[in-house]
Formats: sequence, C-alpha cells, structure tokens
Amino acid sequence: MDLLVSGGTIVTCDGQNRAFEGDLLVRAGRIAAIGDGARRAALRPARVLDARGCAVMPGLVQAHIHLCQVLFRGMADDLPLLDWLKNRIWPLEAAHDEKSARASAELGLLEAMRAGTTTILDMGTVRAHDAIMDACVRSGIRAISGKTMMDVGEGVPRGLRETTKSSLDESDRLLRDWDGHAGGRIRYAYAPRFILSCSEKLVRGAAERAKQHDVIVHSHVAEHPSERAAVRSALGQDDIEDAFYPFGRHNMAEIAFLAAHALEAVDSAGIDLVYDAVTTTAATVLGVARHRLEVGGNADLVVHREATLRSVLAHHDAPAYVVASGQVVATSTSSTKLRLPGGEPDVRE
Ligand SMILES: [Zn+2]
Repeated sequence: MDLLVSGGTIVTCDGQNRAFEGDLLVRAGRIAAIGDGARRAALRPARVLDARGCAVMPGLVQAHIHLCQVLFRGMADDLPLLDWLKNRIWPLEAAHDEKSARASAELGLLEAMRAGTTTILDMGTVRAHDAIMDACVRSGIRAISGKTMMDVGEGVPRGLRETTKSSLDESDRLLRDWDGHAGGRIRYAYAPRFILSCSEKLVRGAAERAKQHDVIVHSHVAEHPSERAAVRSALGQDDIEDAFYPFGRHNMAEIAFLAAHALEAVDSAGIDLVYDAVTTTAATVLGVARHRLEVGGNADLVVHREATLRSVLAHHDAPAYVVASGQVVATSTSSTKLRLPGGEPDVRE
C-alpha cells in the first residue's frame, strides 16, 4: 500500500538544502514523488500520515552502536576502559546466548528507531551474531553489522576466545549468509575489536577480505589514555598513528575503515586520519550522501511535530512517525520534556 506523508515541511537535506511545504509519496520502500502531484499519484487506498505543522526529514544515522551491550548499560559506567571491558563487559558478552543477544538487539533497535534512527553501524560480540543480524532484518532498519573479532589479549574470558582462523572463518560465513540481505538493506562489516585484542594476522585478514568483498572494517582506536599506554607498551607503537599501518601494505586509510571513538587522538599527528575516519570515510561508508529526501531515494524518514529542523534539534521530542524502508516502524502521540533543576520547565520559543 502507498504511504502519503501529507502537508508537512519537507526538509530535503539535498545539495541546496531545500525545504518547502508539500506531500511526499512512498511506494515499495522508495520515495515515489515529492511536492506537487504526490497526492494525485498515490494509489488508493493509501495510508496517510498527517504531517501538517511537522518537519519531514531524513532518518538519523547512528555511526557506532553495540546492540549486544544494550542490556549492560549503567552496570559499570565509572570504570576506565580496560577494567570496564575485562571485569564487566567481556564476561557479560561471554554469557550471551542466542536468546539474550536477540533480546538485547531488539531493545536497542526499538530505542534507536523510536528516536528517529533509520541506519546503524553495529559492532557485535564474538558469538551469537546471527541473532543480531536477524533482529536487524526483522526490524526494518538499514544496518551494517559484524561480529567482533578478538584472537589475542589479556583477560579475555573463555567464552570470547577464538583463534585467528576461527575468527576469520566465522566472519566470512556471516558475510556469506547476511551481506546484501533484505534487498541490500543489511550489510556485513569486518569488526576487529581493537588493536589489543587482534593479532597482525587477524587485522591483515580482515582488511584483505573487506577489500575483496567491498565491505568496511569497523574498529575502535585511541579511546582512553590507559588503553593508549597499554597499546604503546604492548606494540611499541600507537594504534591510530602507527599500529594499523605497519600491519600492512594494507593501509587502513586505503580501505573503507571506520574507527570509532578516537577521543584521545585530538592533539597528535593522527588528527588528519581521525578527521577522515569520523567524517569523510564514515560518511561514505554510511552512505550519508544518499540520506536525503529525493525521488527514487530510500524511504527512510522522520516526521517531527516541530516546524523547523532547528526546533527539532532544540526540543528533542519523540518523532510523530518514523519510516524505515517505507514502513512505519515507530509512532508517538505524546512528547517528553526534560525538566532541569532550577530551569524553566517546558520552555518554547
Ligand atoms: Zn564502541
């Protein structure tokens, strides 16, 4: 059935950043018409979303998420990264089975979509990744996801240990089974966790395969001062500045490499690479150029009860409707206001 988003302000996010009042027609997961004629082109009966007084904008892109960790939130937020991983997160990830991984992914996807996210880049855990890919398929979201890879490292619990070969083989198997699924909505990513948990052979293998299959490598770099010190001590070099480099001929900057976090690389020569990794490369990998409202584009969009993009960002209300791949995946009839202590509640311009 056609979907007509009726009478909103269409915030196109196209090359000219055009915004205008009008209708938007969705058919078979794509934007079939925008503006004049969209209403007439709708095949009856069509589902109509009343968007009068609302901004209609492209869905949001979440460039780094761990769906497998959603159930662990708030359990150890005050620990330094390596303690957090070794004492809490790795044991919890090791305890996942297909059922808990699925529940974790479903909750994470629900929350992301309810907030207006229609595309994610996800890093999984070592095992049970089919459950996460399956949850992404069923949710309707556009997802790039891969099992995390970790063949070396201290403090890794038994349930997460894998050999170089088994890590690469399982990643290859997941790529064969899931990459390109749901009409191309689901893509696979090779996901070496971070340099302290990956051998040179594993990183090389992931990079070679990513190049061969035209998929991305998704990893973590330069996340915390103590982790940077541990990287330097273990490898005699730095991750963002060196370590991914001497591991190849396979220069990570020459493939689609998305390095998450990178918060500790802001004052070094690595800044250009970080900038590229979190902007140009990331935007390309995530297809940001296609996240615009245009005829023929994917119907991934959000209808906000605010008239402008500025007020959407300022007030952060729950969207009225979220449409992913042409399907309405979330609706909200009310909004929640943040009331800060001493502040004026619910201030509107
Ligand atoms: Zn992460």
